Amino acid sequence: MFNYTKKIDIINEADVLVLGGGPAGICAAVSAARQGVNVLLIERYGAIGGNLTLGNVSPILGRVSSGTMYDEVIGLLSATHKDELKVETRNGKEIHIDAEEAKGILVKLLNDNNVRVMLQTAVCDVIKEDNVVCGVVVATPFGMKAIKAKRIIDATGDGTAAYLAGCEYKLGRDSDGRTQPVTLEFTISNVDEARAIMCFGGSDPVTLPDGKKYSEFCKECEQNGILPKNVSIVRLHRTFYPGERNVNATQMNDINGLKYEDVFTAEVELRDQIDKVLDFLRKYVPGYENCMLKTSADTLGVRETRRIIGEYVMCDEDVEQGRHYDDAVVHNAWFLIDIHNPSGGGQAEGHSKMAVPYDIRYGALIPLKVENLLTAGRCISGTHRAHASYRVMAICMATGQAAGIAAALSIKKNVSPRMLDAQEIRKVLTDIGVEL
Ligand SMILES: Cc1cc2nc3c(=O)[nH]c(=O)nc-3n(C[C@H](O)[C@H](O)[C@H](O)COP(=O)(O)OP(=O)(O)OC[C@H]3O[C@@H](n4cnc5c(N)ncnc54)[C@H](O)[C@@H]3O)c2cc1C
Repeated sequence: MFNYTKKIDIINEADVLVLGGGPAGICAAVSAARQGVNVLLIERYGAIGGNLTLGNVSPILGRVSSGTMYDEVIGLLSATHKDELKVETRNGKEIHIDAEEAKGILVKLLNDNNVRVMLQTAVCDVIKEDNVVCGVVVATPFGMKAIKAKRIIDATGDGTAAYLAGCEYKLGRDSDGRTQPVTLEFTISNVDEARAIMCFGGSDPVTLPDGKKYSEFCKECEQNGILPKNVSIVRLHRTFYPGERNVNATQMNDINGLKYEDVFTAEVELRDQIDKVLDFLRKYVPGYENCMLKTSADTLGVRETRRIIGEYVMCDEDVEQGRHYDDAVVHNAWFLIDIHNPSGGGQAEGHSKMAVPYDIRYGALIPLKVENLLTAGRCISGTHRAHASYRVMAICMATGQAAGIAAALSIKKNVSPRMLDAQEIRKVLTDIGVEL
């Protein structure tokens, strides 16, 4: 152990401090700012968007009730692509993204709403007085600096601030702690649109010209080594542009997305897998003979890390039975229970099960033990299976919006977020047109 003690400057202050500039963090910051409080967002990378941009993840999946920031964000992202094909699938409507455009659109959204943003600034500690979180320590080119805030929203995906504050969390499935596999998504161009298939997942009944089921063919190719280990389906999503596909196919299991050793191992392996998947497409899939790699994720796609335990834990039955609650801050959230197999290829449960539109309760955003901290996005409180549904971007945006409003309201009412009545948040949401 090495004892490191240093006095550091407080370089910034905010009413609401949002950590992480992904789908959840963006919506949290904008919705808080719209309540008239002073908001600062901290993002470790040099661009905004999280998985939506730097993870090259497309399409935006999932649904929530009408009137949330999800509607606003997809409206902005598709404003110049109104006539583009939107494919309706078992997963719901595929909402495409142009990740390059999105970087500009989303940073403008923050700027237009008076959210101050610190890019290339990583949160590496929290400041606590007793059990009250009142700031963070960040790593900057000038060394460690402190930032103070009245309320903090952890939208880091990994629940990093909550972890540093001493909150309890779960990682992976209860039986063995294994998490969903990691993936590097990439985009290809030069696909012959007239002949090329699309494929949304292993349950998609798409066939090849010889009548063979594409999913069966992928499985065979994985078994005989043409496709990388555990890549038993190569998902091919349309983008806004004819001749392009977003490919969700590389995969590595048993990677802990919180550990730098694992992240590098996966980076090396999955860059290699991109070449193998390209070979497969060019050799065996009609219409893809001349496809070219256009772009790939700037950062490893991590589906699952910490789930911070909150006042309420979203449970399997909530998403399976479509439970509704009178303290819901997100209504009619819907997506499949999409568990990419933690211990092999394909889906963990054979195929993804359907969820029934469900509510997310305010308590799922309030970590136990510490005050003035909220969570938003994929690190909120829930089981492994519930998380497999609410982790998609539409739902993450809605939890972000609810957390932002709750943080701002709790300042105005001078109560800790834990003591804030969910009905007050629901009233603001309803007043701005959110169906609850
Ligand atoms: C391979 C893959 C495919 C997926 N496919 C789909 C799909 O097709 N459709 C869909 O809707 N969803 C998909 N998902 C799920 C979805 O992308 C994520 O669950 C969602 O983006 C989570 O949103 P978030 O805002 O909580 O976190 P993120 O998008 O991860 O954003 C978190 C942000 O916090 C920042 N951050 C983290 N730590 C720190 C720190 N210490 N300091 C400062 N900033 C920090 C990160 O850089 C990032 O910008 C996929 C996920 C993966 C990995």
